Amino acid sequence: RAKSAGGNRSELADPEADARAITRHGLTTALPTALERGEFFIEYQPLVHLGDGSVRGAEALVRWLHPQHGVLGPDRFIPLAEHTGLIVPLGRWVLEESIRQARAWRERYGEQTTAGPLRINVNLSPCQLSHPGLVQDTVDILERSGVTPDALCLEVTESALIGADDDLLKPLRRLAEMGVDIALDDFGTGYSNLANLRRLPVSVLKLDRSFTQSMQQFPADPVDLKIVEGIVSLAHNLDLAVTVEGVETGAQAEQLRILGCDTAQGWYYARPGPPERLQELALVDATG
Ligand code: C2E
Ligand code: MG
Ligand code: MG
Ligand code: MG
Repeated sequence: RAKSAGGNRSELADPEADARAITRHGLTTALPTALERGEFFIEYQPLVHLGDGSVRGAEALVRWLHPQHGVLGPDRFIPLAEHTGLIVPLGRWVLEESIRQARAWRERYGEQTTAGPLRINVNLSPCQLSHPGLVQDTVDILERSGVTPDALCLEVTESALIGADDDLLKPLRRLAEMGVDIALDDFGTGYSNLANLRRLPVSVLKLDRSFTQSMQQFPADPVDLKIVEGIVSLAHNLDLAVTVEGVETGAQAEQLRILGCDTAQGWYYARPGPPERLQELALVDATG
């Protein structure tokens, strides 16, 4: 008791903790108006085929241009939006905006990229997954934009699906049946049972950045090499594609290519950026 009271007092006396608390509270209350005022924007990071280096699409990553604090990354506000439920309208906006962008790329560059029409990956939070409107919202957005479902890949983290019951998987199954790809994000961090993969309507594994990081040294840690090799062969046997995230060097890309990974994403190729940047990359790729 006495200890926790002391802890509270010292917390109040800590100006930094105070500022953090105020910011957290301030950000939480500012979220709904931020959406109305259009303070969110999306950066796109290319997904590159490891075999031929072509740009296949991009992941949409949301940012908040806060009038006082500048650009805030998703780690600062997504947890708050999840907590307050604003993630549902915010997630819907991200989906609509990214699909609109995918359509614009397809209209302008459809046949000019070597790899065919660009695809878009959008992150889904667990709250969106359990929201009853998910399937209908997605169908509506796709229909309004005139983009076929195969242009879209929804990313769900492995941890969100661990122990998921059938009710939670049902909307994902519906979407997968329509032709939407489902990717298991941050794969390898969630201690899920590999056999469990058979139950999940996923078609892509996104290997967590921690694996990519361990490919930094040369030669890479032999145990990590074996793990990645095992995951890739299991994934391919189950007809799943493997994407790697967080590729920062050519050596990592080469190692992961040799291990059989299909697609890669990371600063080595491009940082997340405005949509024009992706167009340039995809076009360079097509012409040169
Ligand atoms: P994620 O889906 O795993 O996205 C990958 C994160 O890794 C992004 O961070 C990206 O900027 C970063 N990254 C990409 N390449 C590299 C690299 O080479 N090195 C390093 N160190 N980092 C790299 P970001 O943009 O800060 O997003 C963080 C997380 O926020 C995302 O992780 C995702 O879980 C979540 N998120 C982003 N946008 C949305 C959204 O629209 N909705 C939801 N629900 N979550 C989102
Ligand atoms: Mg993701
Ligand atoms: Mg990821
Ligand atoms: Mg990650």
